Amino acid sequence: MPIYEYICRSCGKSCELLLTQSKRDDAGLLCPNCGEAALERMISVTAKPKCECDSCGQGSCGSCSGGGCSCG
Ligand SMILES: [Zn+2]
Repeated sequence: MPIYEYICRSCGKSCELLLTQSKRDDAGLLCPNCGEAALERMISVTAKPKCECDSCGQGSCGSCSGGGCSCG
């Protein structure tokens, strides 16, 4: 089952929610932090641009910038 990451427009916190087949639609999802129905799905991890350095080769490692990478 897909897990999506959401960010809450009300409290600004992000969370990960599991969507079951019976609830593919994210309408009506409530923020687990503040309880508001203000969740907005974030871009999936797989859609992030790949890391440009050759040393990590696993997408963005969080420390890559301009070819400098501390993950390798
Ligand atoms: Zn919230």
